Amino acid sequence: DHKAALIDGKAIAQTIRSEIAAEVAQLSQKYGKVPGLAVVIVGTRKDSQSYVSMKRKACAEVGIKSFNVDLPEQVPEGELIDKVHELNANPDVHGILVQLPLPKHINEERVLSEISIEKDVDGFHPLNIGKLAMKGRDPLFLPCTPKGCLELLSRSGISIKGKNVVVVGRSNIVGLPVSLLLLKADATVTVVHSRSHNPEQIIRGADIIIAAAGQAKMIKGSWIKPGAAVIDVGTNAVDDPSRKTGYRLVGDVDYDEAIKVAGHITPVPGGVGPMTVAMLLKNTLEGAKRVFEK
Ligand code: NDP
Repeated sequence: DHKAALIDGKAIAQTIRSEIAAEVAQLSQKYGKVPGLAVVIVGTRKDSQSYVSMKRKACAEVGIKSFNVDLPEQVPEGELIDKVHELNANPDVHGILVQLPLPKHINEERVLSEISIEKDVDGFHPLNIGKLAMKGRDPLFLPCTPKGCLELLSRSGISIKGKNVVVVGRSNIVGLPVSLLLLKADATVTVVHSRSHNPEQIIRGADIIIAAAGQAKMIKGSWIKPGAAVIDVGTNAVDDPSRKTGYRLVGDVDYDEAIKVAGHITPVPGGVGPMTVAMLLKNTLEGAKRVFEK
């Protein structure tokens, strides 16, 4: 019976975090300074709060100093932007992350555009995305989840160059930037979205599938080419009365079916999720190094 090789994102992320901790310690010795990350949260959304506390904790673990900014749900946009400017000017801050989504009265695009591109560790500044899209240009930072997907592939010995990669989803934070990044890495990229005809047939042509649609178990085993590598970004809560919480997380891929066909696969949870946080730390480290080494 065939069984896909597991891509253990949790273990890979842990390895990366130890590598980062070692580099932070070296920088601290050499320059007497450590990287700093500002994590800004507006409001009290439960999911956002849990992501933010995870990110802050991860910083502490590798020796990155975190600057916590917690603003109330009703904060005026101007005040949030003032805060961003203040962090732009703070020399101890090398990365600024504004947790999304922002409340409806705030224009997300305006806020993200105010982050200094040298500190844009989420990689969402339009200039960084623009550079990602252009040949021969290099963004200062790559968005964390897309960067994590490529890191999972490379650390699992899966090459990208020339491969047929199908990305499912085209959002600003995952689908679009991961397709641009794959294109830069010389893949032949197809993007499937909610208006695509015959997604099943398109996905079946993929050597590598990046699933980021936010649709629980949408991709069936029969949609996967035997031996394909499957990176499942989807993180969907589904009811599960047998759990204390009443729910569990599943990916966009039907995992039980997919392991019988795929060559490699990421689990949910424990696949892409931990890599996103590790890449945020890595971006912060890289941003700080650029400043220290100047
Ligand atoms: P969005 O809802 O912003 O985007 C979903 C994308 O998928 C859209 O482009 C949409 O198409 C497309 N889509 C929706 N339904 C279908 C369908 N039936 N067939 C094909 N395409 C479809 O989601 P995000 O990009 O923010 O997130 C995607 C998933 O990844 C979510 O489950 C999210 O929780 C998870 N996630 C996980 C992260 C991690 O670190 N592990 C980080 C970020 C997100 P259209 O553009 O036409 O609407």
